[in-house]
Amino acid sequence: VIEIRDLHKSYGSLEVLKGVSLTARRGEVVSMIGSSGSGKSTLLRCANLLEDSQQGDILFKGEAVHWRGTGMHRRPGDAKQVLRIRTNLSMVFQQFNLWSHMTILQNVMEAPLTVLGRDRAEVEEKARAYLAKVGIGDKADAWPAQLSGGQQQRAAIARGLCMEPEALLFDEPTSALDPELEQEVVKVIKDLANEGRTMILVTHDMRLAADVSDTVVFLHQGLVEEMGPPADVFGAPKSERLKQFLSATQ
Ligand code: ATP
Ligand code: MG
Repeated sequence: VIEIRDLHKSYGSLEVLKGVSLTARRGEVVSMIGSSGSGKSTLLRCANLLEDSQQGDILFKGEAVHWRGTGMHRRPGDAKQVLRIRTNLSMVFQQFNLWSHMTILQNVMEAPLTVLGRDRAEVEEKARAYLAKVGIGDKADAWPAQLSGGQQQRAAIARGLCMEPEALLFDEPTSALDPELEQEVVKVIKDLANEGRTMILVTHDMRLAADVSDTVVFLHQGLVEEMGPPADVFGAPKSERLKQFLSATQ
């Protein structure tokens, strides 16, 4: 579904991604691990076209993103294509970013109504179904501030699902949560993985990465240092840096 080839991304003189390639095929879960500042969030943001990049290719369902300009001014050139890709790659952030002036149900319904222009009754039915799926069906009419962190994050996941995207991109979806709330969200992510959804997951939770991933990617200083099935990456790491990283996160 998503293929990134040799992506380079700099902020000014800071080269954050130095030629990263990564593929998430339909139904695959790809987890990205790596220390702080290694470029994980930047890569997700580039995949979702929230950031431009200087070099490399991004393909969505085999379709190359059309770029305009060169070097520092290289941007996706086709607004329709950008919208299509963004609405098909739902992003769930560390901070759940719910609209505080809207109820949970309104939050979940907002994008399908305004971005996709779907029928309200149909969207409401779906929104309620996704809220039930993530275990907060009874919170539809509550305000975000009335929910726990774990419930808010599950609402954010329901909001992503309600767009019925091709893939979900998660950026440390559990790292803002207390350990006991974290498990509620981990369960939802595991359920989604078992359903065969395509996901790219940035996580500091090695157990989660080991449990749900088809492929684990270890990013180090803007490069893929090692990647492979979780049994290899966690069970028999080859790179010294990965070994160090794993022993530090035990
Ligand atoms: P963490 O685990 O802490 O979330 P990360 O792997 O997600 O780290 P990124 O957020 O991708 O790391 O950041 C990679 C590098 O890019 C960091 O050095 C960061 O300071 C820098 N960076 C990220 N966003 C910007 C920006 N908008 N402008 C300038 N530098 C940035
Ligand atoms: Mg990050």
